[in-house]
Amino acid sequence: MPALEKFLISEIEALVSAHLLRSPEVTENLDGVRVIRNGRELISFCSNDYLGLSKNEMVIEEAISALWQFGAGSGASRLVTGNNPLYGKLEAAIARVKGAESACVFGSGYLANIGVIPALVGKGDLIVSDRLVHASIIDGIKLSGAEHKRYSHNSLDNLSNILENNRKLHKSCLIITETIFSMDGDKSPLPDIMEIAKKYDAWVMTDDAHGMGVIKHDINANIRVGTLSKAVGSYGGYVCGSKALVDYMKSSARSLIYSTALPPATLAASIAALEIMESDSELCKKPLENAKMFASELGMKEPESQIVPIIIGEAEKAISCSKELEEAGFLVTAIRPPTVPKGTSRLRLTFSALHEEDDILRLADFIKSKGWLEHLKVAA
Ligand SMILES: *Cc1c(COP(=O)(O)O)cnc(C)c1O
Repeated sequence: MPALEKFLISEIEALVSAHLLRSPEVTENLDGVRVIRNGRELISFCSNDYLGLSKNEMVIEEAISALWQFGAGSGASRLVTGNNPLYGKLEAAIARVKGAESACVFGSGYLANIGVIPALVGKGDLIVSDRLVHASIIDGIKLSGAEHKRYSHNSLDNLSNILENNRKLHKSCLIITETIFSMDGDKSPLPDIMEIAKKYDAWVMTDDAHGMGVIKHDINANIRVGTLSKAVGSYGGYVCGSKALVDYMKSSARSLIYSTALPPATLAASIAALEIMESDSELCKKPLENAKMFASELGMKEPESQIVPIIIGEAEKAISCSKELEEAGFLVTAIRPPTVPKGTSRLRLTFSALHEEDDILRLADFIKSKGWLEHLKVAA
């Protein structure tokens, strides 16, 4: 056997025996919450399309007309073929929705994180991040070459300690956290973090991938990254903040400069979705209300967001719980390492504006009937 094949097969075998091999299953999105998998209709409780906008008729209509008007692809990087007029419209809409001076669109949330972080800090600088930040932030940090320290999840004491001991040794300092943590659904204590940042002359960057359109924040960081691929129901990422921040990014973020612009239909879909978000505040409140209804049925702590994790522990057990849910008609994917720390494999339930009361109560009843909550540690 050639050396490469031998290497690959042994790596795959190791993943299989650790219950960590991943293989995407064919799944067809019917209406935003109902899907078809293996010939069966399931209700999905694991999508990030929190407002069901990926299937919204107005969004689809706008995407279709942009497709006819501007074509399927964009041809090159925004800095080469020039900005499609939709970019300006989309960036204005993001800035409006986020209450920011300016916004800059990237190819995805992943590309925003790996572009923005290295544009701001590098060798000789310090990054202090929450231990649970998303992989795309970790990759951005690695690319930057800055010194990296992690503080325990949401621990202000630990963050202060790290800054007290390290801040003076570095030029610039960037604190990075998420507004709503993607796998735990809890909030970061942003007002306190901003206070600490002021004391230590540090900048603060947040990733609002799971907050946008669903959870409002009272206070904002200097640098705000997010995605158009979740509640916006489309695709793309962004950073927003001051005009200077955005102007600088357009000439400095490598993932923006060296990657092709988004397809026009995608830009148009995002614009239409943001307009719905701005005008329909009832829709935006639903995901959190639904999560609260579910949690209260099960006597769980009131969730802070539409993401409600049930920590199972071992990957194998999480997979078997997920299979049982699927047999009962619910799609809830098991989340395993390296997405979450070892020993904290979980069912990550996400609630959508489109879930009906009956769907939620049936899911709660099913989980109750399994007795899972009696021997499982319930987080959030
Ligand atoms: C999903 C996610 C991203 C990546 O966004 P994409 O648009 O899917 O590339 C970044 N950060 C967080 C916290 C996320 O949950």
